[in-house]
Amino acid sequence: MNLNYLAGFTDGEGCFCVCGRGPRIDWGQNDPEVLKEIRIFIESLGIHTNWSVVKANPKKRRPNPITHLWIARKRDCKMLCELLLPYLITKKADCAKLLGWIKDRPYLKNLNHIPSEQIITLWEQGYTGTYIAKELKISRSKLSTLSKKIGIVFQSGGKIKNGKHAKGLSRDELRERKRNKEKSKKCLDCPKLIWKYSGVRCNSCATKYRHQIKPGSFKVSNIKSVRGATDQ
Ligand SMILES: [Zn+2]
Repeated sequence: MNLNYLAGFTDGEGCFCVCGRGPRIDWGQNDPEVLKEIRIFIESLGIHTNWSVVKANPKKRRPNPITHLWIARKRDCKMLCELLLPYLITKKADCAKLLGWIKDRPYLKNLNHIPSEQIITLWEQGYTGTYIAKELKISRSKLSTLSKKIGIVFQSGGKIKNGKHAKGLSRDELRERKRNKEKSKKCLDCPKLIWKYSGVRCNSCATKYRHQIKPGSFKVSNIKSVRGATDQ
């Protein structure tokens, strides 16, 4: 197994695409034997791979299960694209397009690369989570995952001055906050309860609704599946 072989296989059976919010390189096969070999080769390059099997479904014209080997981490997709690009023939344009897409959207730092001591010192100085995330150039959600691991809790609300908590919440504000946090509103389309300030529909209904009103902005496959869901 070498890069030349992999490029040839990718030309025939591979796929470069953007799935949701991230890039994806995918190989699908009925027979997983080749994929096993490729997986060993790719992992030896230091790239993380994913493995999934789509069950057989004769109703959807899929008589056999399909095994997928795929890469979804931005860092890894970029690395493999750069390695494969000189060898590809038919999917060269796709690969270059994906590479451009990744370059336009630089990845945020991985959790392992973030120094937790730095977070703790900033937290001890009284800085807010938003400020620390900005300072370390990571997303706020990643910081909260990390802070849970470290075992620190950020204060919420109150008055903020220069990135620090100047004053906590007053008693009334705290009560108001608790009240607002309760799920008290009903979704427009289903009986699910939702947060007071989170729009008119629950997450899944909002997605369906969005597909219904803006069919032009989504792929044909998406619209088909939504149409199926609403028909029932
Ligand atoms: Zn709903």
